[in-house]
Amino acid sequence: MTKTTRAACVIGWPVEHSRSPLIHNYWLKQYGIAGAYRREAVPPAEFAAFIGSLAARGYVGANVTLPHKEAALALSQPDERARAVGAANTLWLDAGVLRATNTDVEGFLDNLDACAPHWDRSTGKAVVLGAGGAARAVIYGLVTRGVEQIVLINRTQGRAEALRQQFGARVQIVRWEELNATLGDAALLVNTTTLGMQGQPELSVDIARLPGDAVVADLVYVPVRTPLIAAAKARALRTADGLGMLLYQAVHGFALWFGTTPAMTAELRKVVEADLGPPRNLRR
Ligand code: NAP
Repeated sequence: MTKTTRAACVIGWPVEHSRSPLIHNYWLKQYGIAGAYRREAVPPAEFAAFIGSLAARGYVGANVTLPHKEAALALSQPDERARAVGAANTLWLDAGVLRATNTDVEGFLDNLDACAPHWDRSTGKAVVLGAGGAARAVIYGLVTRGVEQIVLINRTQGRAEALRQQFGARVQIVRWEELNATLGDAALLVNTTTLGMQGQPELSVDIARLPGDAVVADLVYVPVRTPLIAAAKARALRTADGLGMLLYQAVHGFALWFGTTPAMTAELRKVVEADLGPPRNLRR
């Protein structure tokens, strides 16, 4: 008799760039779980039918990447996190019901907790660069941790305004030109833009303006050591990089599908870091 194999997948279009198979198959092997994690290239027109037949395809759940994250939210029973972020990246079948969450929130927070323990004990002011999907996850996370003031800076004012309306008065919009002037009393600086990513313009920010006990987080993970992270480290500030967030966001999905909460290890970081260079693509 063959042992039942639980299987999950990452659904995207394209999907070749995804590091999720590397991460989940590493954990399956490490924990000796008879499971499988695959890539599924699914065009937008076929996405609804695909996730409607997850069980028939032998899947207990899935990650969802671009361009399907909003559709995944609309076609599932999302939790509060996914609704707040406006996108779902993790799906699982729960007694036949397709549920969804967004694990970028806990990926961001768990990585920050690991890299800068107790960062939230005295975070009066956080500066967040960017107002896309990743910024939504970051701001939601900061709000849940009680950060009092979130200064939001984005190239396009309209997108920043939409986030301020969603998250309320503790979000204040500052113009890009005033970025450096707002850093003097910031406890946390988070880059959620694509600036600093391989092939994108560099992020120009005067790290010297930050207080000596500030924490710097960058969501960009190609390269892993972004110019922002390098500049913060050069000033001996505490840092949380995008690779750490990418790994931590995978933990919850693995636990949901395979029943074990995996540990974060330096070895896994090394495995994914090796795969990221030379860079090929920039999305999960
Ligand atoms: P998105 O929705 O497309 O948002 C992109 C953001 O970057 C927007 O705020 C955009 O500003 C800004 N931007 C792009 N080019 C710019 C430029 N030349 N100058 C100034 N701002 C610029 O993307 P996203 O999904 O939020 O992802 C953003 C980044 O986070 C990506 O690097 C992604 O890989 C990373 N990410 C990492 C993780 C992780 O686990 N580490 C998870 C999620 C996302 P406008 O609004 O003005 O266009």
